Amino acid sequence: MEIVTGFLIFVLGMCFGSFINMLVYRTAVSYGLMKKIKVKDDKYSFCDYCGTKLSWRENIPLLSWVLQSGKTKCCQKVLPVAYPFVELLTGILFMGQFLILDFQLSGIAVVSFLIITLMIFSGVFDALYMILPDFSTLLLLALALVLNLANGNLFQDSRGYLWSTVGSGAFLGLLYIFTRGRGMGMGDVKLAFFMGALLGWPNILIAFYGAFISGAVYGLAMMATGRAGKKSLVLFGPFLLFGALLAWWFGGNVLDLFNKWLAY
Ligand SMILES: [Zn+2]
Repeated sequence: MEIVTGFLIFVLGMCFGSFINMLVYRTAVSYGLMKKIKVKDDKYSFCDYCGTKLSWRENIPLLSWVLQSGKTKCCQKVLPVAYPFVELLTGILFMGQFLILDFQLSGIAVVSFLIITLMIFSGVFDALYMILPDFSTLLLLALALVLNLANGNLFQDSRGYLWSTVGSGAFLGLLYIFTRGRGMGMGDVKLAFFMGALLGWPNILIAFYGAFISGAVYGLAMMATGRAGKKSLVLFGPFLLFGALLAWWFGGNVLDLFNKWLAY
């Protein structure tokens, strides 16, 4: 039964991935980062290049991209690989969330899936445009508070959550000042408040550890392949979000292991 549910969650995730792609596109247009295509009615999905309304067959996550060999049907333009990638990633992370956090389908589950969705949106948008949209960070912060109120974490350890929220924002804020914005942007500092509010103390430490390690690995890989540029040096949002996800999913286990190791 769990396999069937897991598969349904995966498909649901791919649909949310499709929504993320649309949100990325529309946010980029509203920020003036992308040219707007003229369409009669933008309530429907339309082709990014010529504005033709898309049929349901062109709207199936991942499958449409594969069946159309990565091109639009209407004007034969190459569709970004980011589209199917984001759909697949969201499907996998939805399934992972369901299997790892092992919760019943409830209000809490809905909030946590919304958090995952916005985390992917912010990470993808930052990777593409070097901006972490404020509306997404604010929504994430609000949802993290709702989640930890609903599951009782905030009542159990309100001081821990307060300190991890303020502390992680202050920590990245100081780093931002000392590196004069060369290592990260203000968007990363704002995102740190969300991370602290989601994870609490000391789990937030695991998130930062994961973020700095994965960011460093990425930086080294870029340098080794000669692709390091100004962009790859400042890109930090996706790594912060990766670290946050790691801590969210596995932080409890890591802390348990660490405590056992200390006792040993
Ligand atoms: Zn087209």
